[in-house]
Amino acid sequence: MTLRGKTAIITGSNSGIGLGVARELARAGADVVLNSFTDSPEDHALAAGIAAEFGVKARYIKADMSKGDACRALVDAAGGCDILVNNAGIQFVAPIDAFPAAKWDAIIAINLSSSFHTIAAALPHMRKRGWGRVVNIASAHGLTASPYKSAYVAAKHGIVGLTKTVALETAQEPITCNAICPGYVLTPLVEAQIPDQMKTHGMSREDVIKKVMLERQPSRAFATVEQLGGTTVFLCSPAAEQITGTTISVDGGWTAL
Ligand code: NAD
Repeated sequence: MTLRGKTAIITGSNSGIGLGVARELARAGADVVLNSFTDSPEDHALAAGIAAEFGVKARYIKADMSKGDACRALVDAAGGCDILVNNAGIQFVAPIDAFPAAKWDAIIAINLSSSFHTIAAALPHMRKRGWGRVVNIASAHGLTASPYKSAYVAAKHGIVGLTKTVALETAQEPITCNAICPGYVLTPLVEAQIPDQMKTHGMSREDVIKKVMLERQPSRAFATVEQLGGTTVFLCSPAAEQITGTTISVDGGWTAL
């Protein structure tokens, strides 16, 4: 499988799943654009490391995915792309009657609206190039709900709906749009939830992992960032040409329950 000559933008890719997806796309030969809202030497070093390891072009572009203009500016600064992976996301856990409105707004902006803006900006470039792949990193929470995650679950269900709509609008073009729905993956985002969950449930770290997180995941194992990267590469392969408007669960059986 070679993606040589293709350019991929991966939002929110200086850590976790985004970085894993960027690495697997680069391994398959794609040039990659990494992104987050920071602009540190470490961010640029990540891109340089990928370029050196995989022999592709890699750069880092700062853009705050909570702002629509910045999302569109990212695509412009990259000169468009062939592959767009909407991955940037944040989480906040609280009962709905105690859920801060500012957190709701931030989650909807970063986890949902950013994809509207990047897709709108990227599609004209894909049409010009005659090929495009949009991969939205949704979640098992795009298909099912959990308590205390109102904004996250709403945003992820929204992403699944957006995926279907974009797929229909591009159905007769050489462009596909799909969502990957991971179960739990041990990334900084999940690490950060553990203390809140410990407080909410009055449990130890080990019990939160076993009884709250992996309780829903029948495999009782975390999915890995490499598996999510591999699934993204598959969606960019010729075998996936007729796969559009759908969700692929990488969740150890969670949504089969
Ligand atoms: P993470 O915290 O490791 O990574 C999130 C990334 O988004 C980081 O690179 C961060 O810098 C970036 N980001 C956050 N706010 C941003 C902003 N305003 N602008 C630009 N970038 C921003 O988390 P992760 O677990 O790798 O999550 C990545 C995606 O995968 C998210 O959309 C998340 O909802 C989804 N997901 C994660 C899991 C899991 O178990 N980890 C499960 C299902 C879905």
